[in-house]
Amino acid sequence: MALKERLRTWKRLFWLLILFALGLLGLYLYGLPVIRHLEVLIPMGVCPSARMALLRDNFTGLLHPWARPEVLTCTSWGAPIIWDGTFDPAVAQREALQQNLTIGLTVFAVGRYLEKYLARFLETAEQHFMVGQRVVYYVFTERPDAVPRVALAPGRLLRVERVARERRWQDVSMQRMHTLHEALGGRLGREARFVFCMDVDQYFHGAFGPEALSESVAQLHSWHYRWPRWLLPYERDARSAAALAPGEGDFYYHAAVFGGSVAALRGLTAHCAQGQRRDRELGLEARWHDESHLNKFFWLHKPAKVLSPEFCWSPDIGSRAEIRRPRLLWAPKEYALLRD
Ligand code: UDP
Ligand code: MN
Repeated sequence: MALKERLRTWKRLFWLLILFALGLLGLYLYGLPVIRHLEVLIPMGVCPSARMALLRDNFTGLLHPWARPEVLTCTSWGAPIIWDGTFDPAVAQREALQQNLTIGLTVFAVGRYLEKYLARFLETAEQHFMVGQRVVYYVFTERPDAVPRVALAPGRLLRVERVARERRWQDVSMQRMHTLHEALGGRLGREARFVFCMDVDQYFHGAFGPEALSESVAQLHSWHYRWPRWLLPYERDARSAAALAPGEGDFYYHAAVFGGSVAALRGLTAHCAQGQRRDRELGLEARWHDESHLNKFFWLHKPAKVLSPEFCWSPDIGSRAEIRRPRLLWAPKEYALLRD
């Protein structure tokens, strides 16, 4: 009898614990900020010291991943994850100058996104993006005349390319891959050696320098970088070109920032544009549009460099000790105002 009683108590306790865990998960997923802060307790993994010693690239020179023991500083395939303090910005600057680079920065500002975000994006880019390097901005818009005039430092120029305005915001976002592919095959590809492609609904807040450059560069998504892999919002419909099966995927990358050499980006944009076309023919649209296809691409073709969430941080998450110096910050989203 006593044994039965004890068993029942344990059973009740077990279910209470399960309910409690599910409750926490629910609160967490629905954005209760206090719960979100518990996220830092989820282990990110550590970079093995044998691999750490080998981490270097042609811009940052030898990296110092041991300077950030509290975060993951390399990937399983040996690419560095760039955190503040792991690189020497002066070395990166010198290397980039020696290579006499021109760096492209593309941004789309279609519809009301132009008035709302573009001026601040460009003005802050002048203060923080690849300062001291040769830069060419490419602004894609359906209204070239409305592009704000921003004073540019010597060695930097801004080109405006006209694009058609898609009716749905999802199509504006997805059409970027095709447009970028064409641009990279044209003047942009001839002018620039490396290119960053960014969303316009953000602004620079700290130095975003040549330490971010590499053959192919992916950005860790600030809302998802500590989540377990099975929770990541990949496309799961196996019929979609962007689908990742359970157990697949390394990280969840943010489509608001990606970059690389012209050749690598030609490959990336072709892959994503083609996947989107295939999906459309089947009447499908991936869960997070171009971002889903980008995540599929980086699963198949691992990025040579990964940027920590410090490079593109969402202030809505609040401050975190491990986010030392945010370089880009998400601007407030006002979808009701911006999207038709
Ligand atoms: N965009 C635009 N006009 C639109 C929709 C999107 O210019 O009507 C561009 C803009 O550069 C924007 C990007 O596409 O930053 C991605 O869209 P959004 O930022 O709304 O997507 P989210 O970051 O919310 O996923
Ligand atoms: Mn955005």
